[in-house]
Amino acid sequence: MPDDLYQRYQAAHRAHQAHTTTCTHCTDTARCPDGQRAYELFARLQDAYLARQRDQRRR
Ligand SMILES: [Zn+2]
Repeated sequence: MPDDLYQRYQAAHRAHQAHTTTCTHCTDTARCPDGQRAYELFARLQDAYLARQRDQRRR
């Protein structure tokens, strides 16, 4: 079964990494609006994915 949440989490991770490697405004301490959006999407999906991992381990 394809893991949709995991796929979206990985895609967001790649998108964020692709942005920060090409963007001249994003640094370790500051993000441009696009980088911030990409980071927030990645962080949200990562939280959801890790939370689900924890739930599954408890069963
Ligand atoms: Zn940026």
